[in-house]
Amino acid sequence: MSMPDAMPLPGVGEELKQAKEIEDAEKYSFMATVTKAPKKQIQFADDMQEFTKFPTKTGRRSLSRSISQSSTDSYSSAASYTDSSDDEVSPREKQQTNSKGSSNFCVKNIKQAEFGRREIEIAEQDMSALISLRKRAQGEKPLAGAKIVGCTHITAQTAVLIETLCALGAQCRWSACNIYSTQNEVAAALAEAGVAVFAWKGESEDDFWWCIDRCVNMDGWQANMILDDGGDLTHWVYKKYPNVFKKIRGIVEESVTGVHRLYQLSKAGKLCVPAMNVNDSVTKQKFDNLYCCRESILDGLKRTTDVMFGGKQVVVCGYGEVGKGCCAALKALGAIVYITEIDPICALQACMDGFRVVKLNEVIRQVDVVITCTGNKNVVTREHLDRMKNSCIVCNMGHSNTEIDVTSLRTPELTWERVRSQVDHVIWPDGKRVVLLAEGRLLNLSCSTVPTFVLSITATTQALALIELYNAPEGRYKQDVYLLPKKMDEYVASLHLPSFDAHLTELTDDQAKYLGLNKNGPFKPNYYSY
Ligand code: NAD
Repeated sequence: MSMPDAMPLPGVGEELKQAKEIEDAEKYSFMATVTKAPKKQIQFADDMQEFTKFPTKTGRRSLSRSISQSSTDSYSSAASYTDSSDDEVSPREKQQTNSKGSSNFCVKNIKQAEFGRREIEIAEQDMSALISLRKRAQGEKPLAGAKIVGCTHITAQTAVLIETLCALGAQCRWSACNIYSTQNEVAAALAEAGVAVFAWKGESEDDFWWCIDRCVNMDGWQANMILDDGGDLTHWVYKKYPNVFKKIRGIVEESVTGVHRLYQLSKAGKLCVPAMNVNDSVTKQKFDNLYCCRESILDGLKRTTDVMFGGKQVVVCGYGEVGKGCCAALKALGAIVYITEIDPICALQACMDGFRVVKLNEVIRQVDVVITCTGNKNVVTREHLDRMKNSCIVCNMGHSNTEIDVTSLRTPELTWERVRSQVDHVIWPDGKRVVLLAEGRLLNLSCSTVPTFVLSITATTQALALIELYNAPEGRYKQDVYLLPKKMDEYVASLHLPSFDAHLTELTDDQAKYLGLNKNGPFKPNYYSY
């Protein structure tokens, strides 16, 4: 059977149906190492050989929507030593140099670099897979000559990614994909280490685009790779510097929104370079959506409300990956969990997992907590909110802040009382209070941190996607959007197994033949849903 070059994905929704099984992992430069390694524990020497095989070569939307939308697509730890109010002077007005005399950056305060370095070192502890990738490949420098312009959350975890890319040979210029999420001390540490970073917490919209522009528009330096989270950087390059695409070998995009925009460009025939959709890779979907939410739903609810879950009645709207994660955590603490679903398959899964599947109307009067995780809009309406009992907690774990109709609560008869950061009491004329968290925005992004280990998985996937696109021989990837080869997903997972001292079973030759598999993977067809 002939081997597809990869998996071009013509449009949102169609892509997963059309993704074909990869039979020849050798085609993927970096991944071939896994196939060759005698065990699933990947051998460094094999990696090195493979790197030498492919020698390293030297839609528009409104500004406010861009910023807010991209900020809800991906998730980062919000811990920070500093806040944006510690100094009223805009970083753009300041003259700052790092200890080596470079001023090729713009951060809040370069003097915070030492604090930032500590944050990065803490993150490294739980990102051992990325560090191991760094160690395995830094001799060969698979990103030598790569000039990566990046636009992501700037946190300690991203810093570990950026420093890994640099250790693998890349030059990086970086801005923030979200005006609030930058850890200033981490940005300072990156600047001190020589990364051209342009970002601070509390940027204005003008600052946001200025920072992106400073990354792209630099005399004597032209990007040849893009790592984007939300699509704003890609959009800016298309709009302002289309010629840059002549040199770009590929775009790696992490977010739902950014991926959606890439598919739109592709459909319109306007995508002029290959792009990797990291968002839909198995490792990202499963770990970000299911396991990350399983941990952070409780964190977000506890930090904001100190609620006790034992015996509480909770309704979770949507039993997809996020919903399953939330329900598992709530059930473990003894909550009585109800599910609402539109899809009979997910509804049946919920039944088999021991949950009652109901219509929201049936339970709305009795529940103590309402959690939305559908990715849909107006799932909780004003009518539902009117019928909730006193002290009912309402929050959203889905992508956008439209799942709960918060706008409908902005009416004169209702009083809003901010009782804590991210916690509002909405008070009805009869004194009933509904506890609204994060004004209906993503609870865990707004009110808790995201486990570093989960971010390590995403960051490792991004690094591999960059290596693959950068080293792919001419013609392997066309001007289209690609899912990561399954082999890469498996490799990302295998890099994380040593953290658990997990030991994989190896197929015997006989077993491999029986199952029709290569002993070194891929182990599942692309349509397998895990
Ligand atoms: P999913 O598609 O697997 O699950 C969503 C479920 O909601 C589906 O089963 C769907 O049938 C159901 N649904 C849709 N409309 C509904 C309605 N009106 N009532 C009841 N159920 C309805 O998606 P997912 O991976 O679970 O992600 C859900 C949302 O969470 C998305 O918006 C995603 O972007 C976001 N997300 C959040 C986080 C986080 O950290 N909070 C992480 C990843 C994804």
